[in-house]
Order: sequence, then C-alpha cells, then structure tokens
Amino acid sequence: TRSDAEFWKIADSKLIRYGGSWSNVRVKSAKGAVMFDQNGKRILDWTSGQMSSVLGHGHPEICDVVDNYMRNLDHLFSAMVADPIVDLADALTKLTPPGLDRCMFLSTGSETNECALKLAKMYTGGHEIVSLSASYHGMTHGSGAATFSVGRKGYGPQLPGNFTLSVPYAYRSPFRHEDGSYDWQTELDYGWDLIDRQSCGALAAVIIEPIVSTGGIITLPPGYMKALKNHCEKRGMLLIVDEAQTGMGRTGDMFAFEHDGVVPDILTLSKTLGAGLPLGATICTAEIEQVCHDRGFFYYTTHLNDPLVCAVGAKVCEIVVRDNLKDEAARKGKVLKDGLLALQNKYPNIGDVRGRGLMLGIEIVEDHERKTPADALGTRISARCMELGLSCNVVQLVGMGGTFRIAPPLTITEDEIREGLAIMDKAFEECLA
Ligand code: PMP
Repeated sequence: TRSDAEFWKIADSKLIRYGGSWSNVRVKSAKGAVMFDQNGKRILDWTSGQMSSVLGHGHPEICDVVDNYMRNLDHLFSAMVADPIVDLADALTKLTPPGLDRCMFLSTGSETNECALKLAKMYTGGHEIVSLSASYHGMTHGSGAATFSVGRKGYGPQLPGNFTLSVPYAYRSPFRHEDGSYDWQTELDYGWDLIDRQSCGALAAVIIEPIVSTGGIITLPPGYMKALKNHCEKRGMLLIVDEAQTGMGRTGDMFAFEHDGVVPDILTLSKTLGAGLPLGATICTAEIEQVCHDRGFFYYTTHLNDPLVCAVGAKVCEIVVRDNLKDEAARKGKVLKDGLLALQNKYPNIGDVRGRGLMLGIEIVEDHERKTPADALGTRISARCMELGLSCNVVQLVGMGGTFRIAPPLTITEDEIREGLAIMDKAFEECLA
C-alpha cells in the first residue's frame, strides 16, 4: 500500500475538487454505521455516506445480491427487461399510494428529477418550474436550475422559467402572527403572488423536498404540502416530491409525504433506494405516463433499468419492510433527538433542533435569544467531532448558522447513538472552552 504522504500527494494533485477541500481522513473500510481509517481508527458514520446507506455499509444480504447479479445478470441494453426490474417496480408500487404506479429506474437523483421535470413539461405543455429557495435537486441543467441552495454561479444563464418560493423556515422567517407564531400561509401566498406576476403563463410543476436537507434540515410546517398541492391544482401544475433522502423509512414514514397526507403527481427516489449503490426511480401516474408516451416522451440513460441495481433496490424494499425500519427510524430518532435536545439545554450555541425520525438538524448560533448565525463555530465543532471519531456533515447557507445534518443508517444501534452524542458533547465542551 501507498504511504500516507504519497496517498495525499496524489489525492491533492490528481482529483478535481467538487467544492471545498478533501476531508483529511483516509478511509480504509466501512461496516454497518462505522468507518475505519488507514490506522484502524473507528469513525461513526452519521451521514450514511452521502445520505444513502440506510442499511449501513456492507449489509450481508446486499453483498449477496451484488455478488449474484454481478456474476449472472449485471447490465442490459435499455429496451431489455428482466425479473429484478419487474420485481422492483412491483415492490415499490406496493409501497406507494394507489395512482403512483409507473416507474423508471435510473442511477442518480439528478437524473430522476430531470426525468420528472421533463414528464411534467410534456404533460402540462408548460416549462416553468417552481422550487424552494433552499432547495437541492441535482447538478444537471434542469435539476440544477431548480436548485437554489448551491451551485448556481459561474455557468451562465440557468434554464428560463425557474421561480423560487421562500423556504418556510419557522426558526427565522419574519412572517409572524400577532402571537409570534409562524405565519407560513401569508409567506406562501405572498410568494405565489410574485410568481404569478413573473410567469409567462406556462407553469408546469412545483418540485420540493419534504425535509429540505442540503438547505439546512428545514421541515415543512404541517399543512404546507397540502397548501402547495392546492396552489398547483389551481394553476394546472404538477407536484413533484423529491424523496432522495427522506424516502424508504428514514423520517419514520415510508415516504415523508405521507406525514402531510398528500399524494404527489410524481415521486422521485434515489440515494436511500439503492442504500449506497447508484439507483434512482421516477414514479408517476399511469395517466402522466400514457400522455407523455403518446406525445413522444424520450428519456433514458446507459444505466436505465440495470438489473444489478434493481435487484439491490428490490432487496432494500424487502428489508425495510421486513425489519420495520421506518418504526426503527422513529424509535431511534427519538433517542437521538432527546440527546440533541439535552445538548441544546446545555449549550446556548445550539439554537434549533429539528427534523423527523433519523433525519435531524441542529443549527449553531451565538446564543438562543439573538440567533446570530455562527457558521465558523459549527465548522470547528464538526472538525473536532471527526478527530474524536464522529463524522457528521455541516451544511452552510447564507443567513443561517452552520447546521449539523445528522442522518445515520437506520440500522445504527442505540449504543452507537449514545457514543456519538457523547463525542458531540465533548466536542462542544472543548470548542467552547
Ligand atoms: N435531490 C435531493 C433531495 C438530494 O439531496 C440530492 C443529492 N444531494 C439530489 C436530488 C441529487 O442526487 P444525485 O447527487 O444522486 O444526483
């Protein structure tokens, strides 16, 4: 094996950096909710890799599926179908509400949203897309134009006709009722008024994350999605719900839209569906599929309906249901949230604790009263957590304190949750000393 010096020299000189700089950990392996570095040091993975590994790393049943399909049926021409593809379509549409029953299997979240946006455009005949101001839906041109949290600057014009609604952010929104409670209805109506004025009359769809993740783990207020759906119906628009991170039980429901009693017109799944492997799904109604097909819908990628990852997805569906992982996420999420609330009691720099199930956020501020953002402090604490053996990512957005995004595998043990909380406690104590 390479020396550390040689490893970092190559990493620093041969890789394209995607945003910041590389983490200074040289990861050697990962199993369950734990990673190990080159020297065997244990690091708890509270991000599930890239928010994906809901079954933990190296789940034995997923290893068996990958091994079997790699040997027997890995990849096919796009027009070919095989059992794992049909198995996954059948399994997924048993989990989704009636109506959402046509699936296309792709590799990444960006691709699933690109597909959903194109379906919506073709179905409605419009092209204008509305998303939230802290949204993340992908990095390709369509999904990127609907992404307002990061990655917009430096590439010339975005797609025309992308509008944004202010993210309903209870902790900081200036929209308040007289009693101080959050008046998201007025904020939403105000946002739509601006959109209606700007629209050229070709509104196609709203796309949202039920818990805005990269934008800071912002949970939509109860009733918000229903109100959005009404706004869509009034204007002949479709509602696309992007459950890249929230799908497959993480929030305590199989899909987070269930929490709001809303059924989207198009649902996109990715990250969690493949539990760490590149698998995504765009799921729509039979009517949308038929209309778009009749109008010449043409969309696929090299890895459309790949049997290997579809077999993985079918196994993920089976395990999530069999092991009741949505209830596990709710139960363990409570242990984790209670621990974070206890830390909030102890440290004035934890301004807000939010999220559902095993998808939680803590926002770092200067103090509870003034809520002044303290991004740099968040970065210091997360770096110290990593040194102490806990990987948890901090999302940084303008006007918001650095927010820890905490989403461990649903298979994490309660002991591992307590271990991580103790590390966090120590990191806060040291960084604030
Ligand atoms: N939607 C959401 C909600 C996401 O969090 C992400 C990835 N961060 C994407 C879409 C894009 O997925 P991918 O990176 O797989 O293209």
